[in-house]
Amino acid sequence: MYSKLVKHLIFPLHEKILGRDTYNFLERLENEQYMSEEKIEELKFLKLKDLLLHAQSNIPFYQKRFSDAGFEPSKMQNIDDFKIIPLLSKEEIRKNVDDMKWNNSPGGLQRYNTGGSSGKPLVFYFDRKRQAYDAAARALTHRWWDIDIGDKELYLWGSPLEITKQDKIKDIRDMLTNDLLISAFEISEMQIPDMVQQIRKFKPKCVFGYPSTVALFCEMAQKNGFKLDDEGVKVVFSTAEVLYDHQRETISKSFGGVPVTDCYGSREGGFVSHECKEGKYHIIESNYIVEFLKNGKEVNCGEDGEVVLTHLDAWGMPFIRYRTGDVAQPGTNGCACGRTWRTIQNIQGRTTDFIVTPDGRWQHALSVIYVVRDIEGVDEFKIIQHAVDDIEVLLKIHEEIYPENGNERIEKGFKKRMGDSVNVKVSMTDSIPRDASGKYRYVISKVESFK
Ligand SMILES: [Zn+2]
Repeated sequence: MYSKLVKHLIFPLHEKILGRDTYNFLERLENEQYMSEEKIEELKFLKLKDLLLHAQSNIPFYQKRFSDAGFEPSKMQNIDDFKIIPLLSKEEIRKNVDDMKWNNSPGGLQRYNTGGSSGKPLVFYFDRKRQAYDAAARALTHRWWDIDIGDKELYLWGSPLEITKQDKIKDIRDMLTNDLLISAFEISEMQIPDMVQQIRKFKPKCVFGYPSTVALFCEMAQKNGFKLDDEGVKVVFSTAEVLYDHQRETISKSFGGVPVTDCYGSREGGFVSHECKEGKYHIIESNYIVEFLKNGKEVNCGEDGEVVLTHLDAWGMPFIRYRTGDVAQPGTNGCACGRTWRTIQNIQGRTTDFIVTPDGRWQHALSVIYVVRDIEGVDEFKIIQHAVDDIEVLLKIHEEIYPENGNERIEKGFKKRMGDSVNVKVSMTDSIPRDASGKYRYVISKVESFK
């Protein structure tokens, strides 16, 4: 009953007060996800052209960029025409952010940053329309999993930034919109009973959070004898990090075998793609031009490329051909769910989820994660690559289980994968620090060639 009130009255009112048109955009996306490919292309072309004309007239950075590249938006015939505009790097954004803003954005601009968990922080700005489109994409993809606006949602949040911002207004907003936010920045066994108690009282229909945080919470709850499989949770939404198979299993089992579903996006890039019930990641096509590039050329379906984004609704600070640093593949077309939106597959995550070997190979973090996970008695760990041949492994262990030759096995495993010239230092610690953003990263590479 209350969820209906939230859906039909409180949420629309809340968005209206914030000057966002989320509800209309959501209804639009509902139709567009089933549109024919030609119609979607036409829609994207018109949105892109509008965006580029706006950038040319109102944003100094792009004015210069277009003219240097000999690009004239008003003469565009098709989407491909804009691909003569150079790619946009994070470094360029850092240097030019003030020239990239549209200061007359309706409703003003809001400042954000990436928190610097994967290198230097990146400052950027959102306008109301972009926020509304990202929120609409989120609401739409929740509906794919039978969760509607107003249904009870538990945010198992890992970010201290969000928590410190949480004030009375946020509490009231959460209450009104049927959300409950539990801080899980640092989960300790002591907090588990209280967290479980809160969940039992609130009875969420879905859970939303970083997979590392949710998985850790589930493991600890289980270890302490708390069952969560009968609390009415229907689905768990994973966000912001690569969702590993073992996390998906742990989380699903813990909540009674419910699906764990994943999105792909980032704070600055927005809400790019989400899994449907068929397990395919559909691109929110109405909101993006997504390119997959290797050495400047578009790759084919099933080949790895860097994800390059153009957000079609980010007018306050346009992201035009933005290099995300993520590696993924264009997926196959067509899906049994009936949606026409294209798909993306084998998302390999941030380039910081890779390590580079002394002979120049990029290895997925999983290859070294398994070396450490294989050792009995490892509770938590973090792998830091300080230099190409310098690896530090931080371990939190159960002393009675961890084998005598554990360190040696780790060292051997790394040398096997990365080459004999690599130095591996294993250190024991009582707690593994989180990154400033609250994310838990198993592998961090500080090697410059990644950035
Ligand atoms: Zn699908």
